[in-house]
Order: sequence, then structure tokens, then C-alpha cells
Amino acid sequence: AKREMEPKDQQLTVALRIRPLNDTELEEGAAVIAHKVGDQMVVLMDPSEDPEDPLRTHRSREKTFIFDAVFDQHASQEDVYLATTQQLVEGVVSGYNATVFAYGPSGAGKTHTMLGVDTEPGIYLQMLSDLFQAIEETRDNTDCSVSMSYLEIYNEVIRDLLSPSSGFLDLREDSRGSIQIAGITEVSTSNAQEIMQLLTKGNRQRTQEPTATNKTSSRSHAVLQVTVRRRGRGAHLAEEVRVGRLFMVDLAGSERASQTQNQGKRMKEGAHINRSLLALGNCINALSEKGGSRAQYVNFRDSKLTRLLKDALGGNSRTVMIAHISPASTHFEESRTTLLYAYRAKNI
Ligand code: ADP
Ligand code: MG
Repeated sequence: AKREMEPKDQQLTVALRIRPLNDTELEEGAAVIAHKVGDQMVVLMDPSEDPEDPLRTHRSREKTFIFDAVFDQHASQEDVYLATTQQLVEGVVSGYNATVFAYGPSGAGKTHTMLGVDTEPGIYLQMLSDLFQAIEETRDNTDCSVSMSYLEIYNEVIRDLLSPSSGFLDLREDSRGSIQIAGITEVSTSNAQEIMQLLTKGNRQRTQEPTATNKTSSRSHAVLQVTVRRRGRGAHLAEEVRVGRLFMVDLAGSERASQTQNQGKRMKEGAHINRSLLALGNCINALSEKGGSRAQYVNFRDSKLTRLLKDALGGNSRTVMIAHISPASTHFEESRTTLLYAYRAKNI
């Protein structure tokens, strides 16, 4: 796979975050097998191969991957935000679409990166604060309104997290071919804190199903959509309205159905998740090609997630994917497949 360095204003950014070892991993005596090298490289070692084995060279145990940015346990929430996502704010305020994904197996740190905790807020709050700040700075010559919606996709079904009683929602294409979610709650908002409160409320409605590997693993994709409508205020008779859409997606855990020894209902969830993550990877990969030469092959219809994000992933939009892994030897296989997925999303 060949890869060129791209300028900072690139359409697609793929980053990797390695969380610290947790208590369970320490108790299990897990070794650290994922190492950040420089700003863009990670080395993953295969713990199953015996380093003393004379038939194997040291090199065979290591796999190297390069991303736009790599973060390890020393990176702060701010480091991650500034290097990956802050650059999207201006575009959204100017009427462009942007999407941020947190990808990785359950427990690898997706929600930590996106939501974070009060003392260490994640990308949601940092980005929204900057977004409202940027809007404030353009107030002299424009009128801006911001609204949000929050939904989850579980087993290929869309639920409104701000109005859970409203049942399953449908995706519709309007006359101009852009995707609408029929009947979704859209709340007008004027500050980041308000959005965070609605998010917290919405999160209580998320489908949290226990699996064999993780009691609170998320089997659904959570999608926060923030819409900025900006109306030029001036001499123009026909006022121009620019609409910028920001999607921030905490994806379902990417662990394979087979790995979690799930059966029945869990199997079905796993199959839906695998399918939508595969479709997402394919769409991002195709779009990452310069000039979109393969755009004709992008099949957004393969999953609800990619259908919903069709407008946001194509055209004049920017996409950030942050992949997450544990550094522990006990999670080698999951980390390997996560790195391969994220690497392939960007490389052909
Ligand atoms: P996921 O959403 O991918 O299932 P979480 O974000 O819930 O994973 O992370 C699992 C646990 O690990 C949480 O307790 C979280 O606070 C912790 N954690 C994840 N990433 C980090 C990090 N970079 N630094 C410190 N703790 C982390
Ligand atoms: Mg989570």
C-alpha cells in the first residue's frame, strides 16, 4: 500500500489512540505490545510468538502502521482534539459538512475520547465550545442558528435518543437527493453546555446490552448531529443561507461476533455491526482516493449508517476517524484487526 503525506487541510484524517493499561490487564500480567514511535507510527508485537525461538527473527513479531497521528497514554484530551478535529470547526461554520468517528473494540476508549469525563472533557465539548465561539466571532455580519439531534442505530434500526417513545425512524431522500431522517427531534440550542445536557439525557436511552466480554459494551452507533444555519445579513435581496452539518459518531464496538462467543441475539447484533463497519470502511476508503476516481463504486446503501452519512462523507466534506486500541498483550487480536481496518480506511 502506498501512501503520500498530505497537506493539513486534507479531506480524511485517520488517527490512532492507545489507551493506558487498565487494572484488569495489570492483574492479568498483560504486557504492553503497542508502542507509539514518533508522531505517526505504531508498532504492534505479536505476543504469541516466542522471542526465544531461534527460527523467528525479531522482525517477524512486529507489525508497523502509519497514521496521520498516533496518541498513547501520555496524550491529553486536548492533544487529541487539537491534532484531529479542531481544524473542522471553521468549515462547519462556513457551511461545509464534517464527520468525526470513534472506532474500536469495546473498552478501547471511544467514549472517553468523544464524551470524556467532567474533569477531562472529550471531543464533543471541546469542539462545540469552539464552534459557538467561532459563531460568536461572525455575529456582526451573519445570523446563525444551531440545532442538534441525537440518534442511535441498533440492529439497522434508527431510534431518536431525544424522543425514545417515537419508535423507529426512516431515512428518506428529498427531491434534491439529500438524506433526511423522517420525524427526528431537532432541538435549537445556543450553547455547548445545553447540547452536553441533552447528550447525557440521550445516553441514558442508549441500548446497552451486556456481552460476554464487556458488561456495558455498546452494541449501537450513537450519532450526534449538529446543524449550523448561517444567513448573510447585508444588502443582498436574496439572502443566502449556508448549512453546515457536523456528525460526531461513537461507533458500536468493533469486536467480532465470533470473538465474544455470542449466540442468538448477540450474534445478530454482531453481524449487523460488522456489516455497517465494513460498509463504512469501504465508503471512506473509496472517498479517500484522490479525485474520487472510485466514487462510482461507493455503495452508501449497504448500511443505515452509511446511508445516513452519505451527504456528510461525500463532496466537499471532511472526515476524521480516530481508531482506539488497548496496549495489552491480552487484546492482541482485537488490536491487530483494528489497526488493519483503520489503515485500510485510508490506504488502497
Ligand atoms: P469504549 O467506549 O470504547 O467501550 P471507554 O471509553 O468506555 O471504551 O473506555 C473504557 C475504560 O477505559 C473507561 O473506564 C475509560 O475511562 C478508560 N479509558 C479509556 N481511554 C482512556 C484514556 N485515554 N485515559 C484514561 N482512561 C481511559
Ligand atoms: Mg463506549
